Amino acid sequence: MHGLHTPAGSDAIAPDTTGLNFYTADPSLADLLQLYLPDALFTHIAPHLERLGGLAGDHLDQCARLADRHTPVLHHRDKFGRDAQYIEYHPAYRELERVAYGEFGIHAMSHRKGVLGWPETYPSAAKHAFTYLFNQAEFGLGCPINVTDGAAMLLSRFGDDALKAKYLDGLTQTDMALLTQGAQFMTEKEGGSDVGKLTTVATPEGDHWRLTGEKWFCSNADAMVSMLLARPEGAGPGTRGVGLFLMPRFLDDGTPNRYRIVRLKDKLGTRSMASGEIKLEGAVAYAVGKLDRGFVQMAEMVNWSRLSNGVKSTALMRRALHDAFAVAHGRVVFGKRIVDQPLARRQLLKLMLPVEQALSLCFMTADALDRAEAGSQDAAALLRILTPVLKFRATRDARKVCGDALEMRGGVGYIEEFVPARLLRDAHLGSIWEGTSNIVALDAIARAVGRHGAQGALAANLHARLDEAASVPQVWRDRLRALVDRAVAFAQGVAADPANEVDSRRATTTLYHVASAVMLAWEGARIHERRGDARRLLLSKLVVDHRLARPDPFAAEAREAGVAALLIGSEPVSLAQAAEHLG
Ligand SMILES: Cc1cc2nc3c(=O)[nH]c(=O)nc-3n(C[C@H](O)[C@H](O)[C@H](O)COP(=O)(O)OP(=O)(O)OC[C@H]3O[C@@H](n4cnc5c(N)ncnc54)[C@H](O)[C@@H]3O)c2cc1C
Repeated sequence: MHGLHTPAGSDAIAPDTTGLNFYTADPSLADLLQLYLPDALFTHIAPHLERLGGLAGDHLDQCARLADRHTPVLHHRDKFGRDAQYIEYHPAYRELERVAYGEFGIHAMSHRKGVLGWPETYPSAAKHAFTYLFNQAEFGLGCPINVTDGAAMLLSRFGDDALKAKYLDGLTQTDMALLTQGAQFMTEKEGGSDVGKLTTVATPEGDHWRLTGEKWFCSNADAMVSMLLARPEGAGPGTRGVGLFLMPRFLDDGTPNRYRIVRLKDKLGTRSMASGEIKLEGAVAYAVGKLDRGFVQMAEMVNWSRLSNGVKSTALMRRALHDAFAVAHGRVVFGKRIVDQPLARRQLLKLMLPVEQALSLCFMTADALDRAEAGSQDAAALLRILTPVLKFRATRDARKVCGDALEMRGGVGYIEEFVPARLLRDAHLGSIWEGTSNIVALDAIARAVGRHGAQGALAANLHARLDEAASVPQVWRDRLRALVDRAVAFAQGVAADPANEVDSRRATTTLYHVASAVMLAWEGARIHERRGDARRLLLSKLVVDHRLARPDPFAAEAREAGVAALLIGSEPVSLAQAAEHLG
């Protein structure tokens, strides 16, 4: 599974991933891309991904380390003593921006034709392959890239022609001199989860509005174009009374808009990126879409971001796994490499499994998004349930995987010179923003299942995949079918009775594990057809054993030495070899 690589390091301390190409070292990525993308698109992006993988494993990683240590500084005046707010960034952050926006155009791929020479816009599955590689080096900037992308999506979907003509080009520019980055400000002191409590007021004035209030968490605080929620004067309470607005940083005459970044947050992670508190003091803003549909419209951006969050958490996990393997192969303890110690091999398997599950569900969700946007109702229902399920579990798994991978490096894992400490700090954010775990689990169960009945689309999709995967042994397909039905019934049962709300997180997790077990089996069969490697089918087995079954605390666990040897090794796994372990 893991592209073996032994970077140069000192004799005594295990090497890290410096110099590793995160694309070529990760065959799962190319395997999955080939399942979802047309050949011509895959062939077109593969060299670009390889280039980004190389940069992420070295140059970008060095920039990310510097940008994390030299955090942004907010200034309120220029050197002449004039009031002028600006945020000073380390040149390493500027270089990360140049590569992400200017060289690869990740933020523009869904909107602008011609990025990286491809004549069309990119499907999400292709775009997020770039997200995934970039975020293995730098997670902080991942947020501004995503909110710039999301702001462009909101504007193109709901903005009127005049607004689009004015702001869309800048949001999707790959020329750094013309780029105007985006942001998304919803959270106020009174309410992050409970957005309906927000107190920012919008007052009409001619062709625009004036905003008064305060936004409490504003990532990419100095963005040129912010999408935000505010309550038009006289509108009712709750989320129904909230409108969506576009707020430019500068007015048409070039003067600053009337809002102030009061201070920047001193954060645990994503320290390279500026998150601020903003006071709106009569700021000019423009209504986007229908005034009484502001929250519903913003929810589209939130859902885009939740998918992006899932991808970014998967990236953190992959990076942590790469690091753990670099240590396990590079360090000798008690006369053997760590990777050859049975207990360490088991731990490596436990690190590997959530990464591969998450990657499978990222692509499944991105593909559902692409098909939903092409008009498929089934895909829209599938997307409705997959988005919170992925966001919930992948972001939570990232906390654990990054923490446990850190330990594989021993004491130096805890030291900031090596990457695991930064990964762990960053990983704790994914489950908080764009909806905390509780909120996202409630969205999955109470709304996606309870209100929209989206679990039917998930069950139908998973059963269809099992029908398709005819080369997977029948016994295993039957086992997975039964698990799909049980997981869906459990989610329905939880959704049906408010007294069961406390089980929402468990029900969401179960849907995730069952969906990933099916996807891994389906992918295993397809990849085996293409290049004779069924290792993902073995991972499907591990999902069932490790994540859906509760071990007896008093009994020895099943021995998995054979499975570990196959998965940690780099030789292809035949269907027959995989089938031996399916039981
Ligand atoms: C680094 C960082 C950057 C951010 N950037 C942005 C940004 O750019 N734009 C933006 O708008 N926001 C941003 N946020 C804010 C973030 O989205 C919110 O903090 C988050 O949504 C939670 O809201 P809250 O802080 O008000 O917590 P609360 O909503 O008060 O939640 C507190 C706890 O209560 C739980 N809870 C809430 N409701 C329920 C319920 N019904 N049932 C059970 N439990 C519940 C939550 O799960 C949580 O554990 C950022 C946050 C951070 C940390």
